Amino acid sequence: FTSKLPNIGTTIFTVMSALANKHNAINLSQGFPNYPSDQKLIDLVNMAMNNGHNQYAPMAGNLELRIAIANKYERLYQNTYHPEKEITVTAGATQAIYCVISAFVRPNDEVIVFKPAYDCYEPAIEVNGGKVIPIQLSAPDYKVDWTEVASKTSSKTKMILINSPHNPSGTIWSQEDMLELQKITHNTDIIVLSDEVYEHIVFDNEQHQSACLFSDLKQRSFITASFGKTFHNTGWKIGYTCGPEALMKEFRKVHQFNVFSVHHPSQKGIADYMQDETTYLGLNQFFQQKRDLFLSLIKDSIFKFTPSKGTYFQVLDYSEITDENDVNFAKRLTKEFGIASIPLSVFNLNQKDDKVLRFCFAKTDETLVKAAEILNNI
Ligand code: PMP
Ligand code: GLN
Repeated sequence: FTSKLPNIGTTIFTVMSALANKHNAINLSQGFPNYPSDQKLIDLVNMAMNNGHNQYAPMAGNLELRIAIANKYERLYQNTYHPEKEITVTAGATQAIYCVISAFVRPNDEVIVFKPAYDCYEPAIEVNGGKVIPIQLSAPDYKVDWTEVASKTSSKTKMILINSPHNPSGTIWSQEDMLELQKITHNTDIIVLSDEVYEHIVFDNEQHQSACLFSDLKQRSFITASFGKTFHNTGWKIGYTCGPEALMKEFRKVHQFNVFSVHHPSQKGIADYMQDETTYLGLNQFFQQKRDLFLSLIKDSIFKFTPSKGTYFQVLDYSEITDENDVNFAKRLTKEFGIASIPLSVFNLNQKDDKVLRFCFAKTDETLVKAAEILNNI
């Protein structure tokens, strides 16, 4: 057979977590918390199972959860999504992203992707025959040049994929960025896929600029989100997507034959848990404390950094230490120093020379202290 994805290997997250386990290293590579999810949420999911929510959820998701999601958009963004027509619960953001791409991208359609980009975007485009049009952003601020975006946008552009707060750089897009995107896509048929899985993790009193806040953008956008990020349970793989009714109808045609519906007790438990909005509103503060702790502990280390503005990742520049490429250095740090991270070049096309690694700070304070001790002694 001929592989449909000849250039794709095992994801860097699997590779680095396996290496961390093998060498018993502190694992700040793959993005997941090393502390438990709220017991109250676990109890609510158990209760959902005990109360019989054990059969298929509706194809679009448990309705109470979709209503809770709609209420969140009203509360945070004064914005309406119809729970029955415009919200679908998915198997994490990954499945939502895959199905958005699959539902719209045809062979030879162009899809604009900002690099570095989270690793599930491009294979989903390529397996559907689409053509990735990369736009390279660079350290340390990863700013978008909007004239470049305009010049790469044409009648062949089917979709533009955006991600703020941004994994892996920890940067966020401003209101001006979103307005530029709105201007470029105005009066076109371009669909925007706005991956907002870190919407609740934004620091220093900045505001998350959701695509739903820009009315023209909203009517062409899917927003994807992940409860794994918000409620510290990445292993449950529950997420959702919101989008205008006509687009969502197409999305569901694919979703229903891709997974049909996802784990029902988790959906019911999350719906009940979200009745208390403080469950997601406190997240900025929770992670700001972790970011601030981590950065204060490594401020005198040899690594250079610009503080992360969102997500639970911090990028560190190691150019003062070695000329080694980031993949080799990340592996050596894991094996020889006992700390695992993610080399940024794996999300990049041609920025192989950036000497930067991504560290996840969704960890207990104790782990962050131990990690900082290692980083301070390099
Ligand atoms: N998008 C981004 C930017 C992510 O970082 C992640 C996972 N960390 C996902 C999507 C996938 O989310 P999920 O685990 O809910 O599938
Ligand atoms: N999104 C997580 C990260 O960026 C990893 C998810 C995965 O392992 N696929 O680290």
